[in-house]
Amino acid sequence: MTTIGITTTVPIEILLAAGLRPVDLNNLFIADPNPDRLVNIAERAGFPQNCCTWIKGIYGVCLDRGIDTVLCVTSGDCSNTLMLMEVFKLRGLRAVPFAYPDQPDVHRMQLCLEALAEALGTTLAGGEKMQGELKKSRSLALELDELTWRAGAVGGWENHLWLVTSSDFNGDYREYQHQLQQLLSQCHKRQPHPEHMLRLAYIGVPPIFAPDLYRYLERHGARVVFNEIQRQFAMPQPGTSLAEQYSNYTYPYPICHRISDIMAELRRRRVDGVIHYVQAFCHRGIADIIFRHAIELPILTLEGNDDYMLSHHVKTRIEAFLDVLKRRQRALAQAH
Ligand code: SF4
Repeated sequence: MTTIGITTTVPIEILLAAGLRPVDLNNLFIADPNPDRLVNIAERAGFPQNCCTWIKGIYGVCLDRGIDTVLCVTSGDCSNTLMLMEVFKLRGLRAVPFAYPDQPDVHRMQLCLEALAEALGTTLAGGEKMQGELKKSRSLALELDELTWRAGAVGGWENHLWLVTSSDFNGDYREYQHQLQQLLSQCHKRQPHPEHMLRLAYIGVPPIFAPDLYRYLERHGARVVFNEIQRQFAMPQPGTSLAEQYSNYTYPYPICHRISDIMAELRRRRVDGVIHYVQAFCHRGIADIIFRHAIELPILTLEGNDDYMLSHHVKTRIEAFLDVLKRRQRALAQAH
């Protein structure tokens, strides 16, 4: 199978129907034992210091691994991808554009999917068939999510990892399904996390310092029970067609759709506080204004750049935030 790099979550069912093997370049970059080396490839090629690290990592890993075809999302993800696509073309790579509609409209989504299928030499009907093939993997990912917040049997890092990798199922959905099935059977036998731990939501793009963040929180009495965008990658509302599935996926559309999903999950999962992660030099950071307006719970905004571990400054801010939440939890308990 020919590998096709993807720059974010895309309708991989169409790619698979075209006989391609989608690999999420973000996941490949961040899982590399030396991500700095990949960022350096981009900087040596001329990417500026003040460009988002994810973009530089995507470029670096693509060249490093010799991936010669990339599906670039030109609307509904990242404005930097437009210029990244041009640089890929300059380097002789095949860059296939894909644009989400500007609103979650099923009919318009259907047209986008048909155009993508045609560009890749397949059909939407082939993609719909793959939707059925992926159903099991997606439902296992959502079962893991449920075990996280409802049963307390899964930690925030495990939840992040399995949901974030549902963008490409680690390049092999059958193997993903097999491994996740084994993990879930272990999770069902686990002792749940203690009830008194603080329950956090994580919203925003995936963090550059992912393992360290989740582990640090758990060492300090808090666990993430809701990873917003990562959960969206697993398609929690698949609907009855691919067009419906990708219209229900909130990330590419106006932020009100994300907020409705976030508000419902904060209530359902009994969340005590929210961490909003923003990536340095990312336009999405401005959404902090809107989240702070819409969400009544305490919010901690963390920014990451090219630091793959938590700095002392970030650790101090997390500890102070958790102290606030613990005091608030005690005050609420006394009030009842
Ligand atoms: S973090 Fe922001 S700037 Fe970076 S790739 Fe994602 S959307 Fe683009």
